[in-house]
Amino acid sequence: MTKGLLIVYAGASGVGKGTIMKELLKSDSNFRLSVSATTRLPRPGETDGVEYHFVTKADFEELIANDGLFEYASYCDNYYGTPKKAVFDMLESGIDVFLEIEIKGFLQIKEKYPDCVTIFLLPPSMEELEKRLTGRGTEAPEVIRKRLDTAQKELTYAEQFDYTVINDDVERAKNEILTIISNIKKERNKEN
Ligand code: 5GP
Repeated sequence: MTKGLLIVYAGASGVGKGTIMKELLKSDSNFRLSVSATTRLPRPGETDGVEYHFVTKADFEELIANDGLFEYASYCDNYYGTPKKAVFDMLESGIDVFLEIEIKGFLQIKEKYPDCVTIFLLPPSMEELEKRLTGRGTEAPEVIRKRLDTAQKELTYAEQFDYTVINDDVERAKNEILTIISNIKKERNKEN
């Protein structure tokens, strides 16, 4: 059985990662999104076990101690991490797994799993990003400021990704990502 593809999918808070991800999952039944653990509180409409496994700081630290995480990072005062076993089980059974993670996680995965494909989603501009984050209305002003500062720093890592995709239009960006993945799979199938 051919192993699934591990896709690291990153980009600034508010860039539209979640929206495009939902479309990607609808486009290919072989795609799954890894459900991360986080100590951040759920936003309205988020369900434990669906968007995230919402855990306490003590639970998270236990996951770290038990080597249960593939990678983890602290981002804007909360922990976020990828449960290891779930991801490896899916890859082994041929499923293509997306990790929707921030930059520190990306750097860890690149090191631990060089066979991964890395995609960075860019906003059309920083002004547009600020507009989207503010318009979303899910974060307090000081949290938005912190996330925008983090986004500025994260942009400097864009060139370390295999691919960058501009989210100027959801459908277009989704199709660009689908093409990237399909081309990689064709290449890898040729090699095997
Ligand atoms: P949010 O609080 O907006 O859901 O996520 C904040 C940031 O944490 C986003 O950039 C998101 O991609 C990232 N993130 C979510 N899950 C993980 C994870 O498991 N590991 C890492 N390193 N980052 C994550």
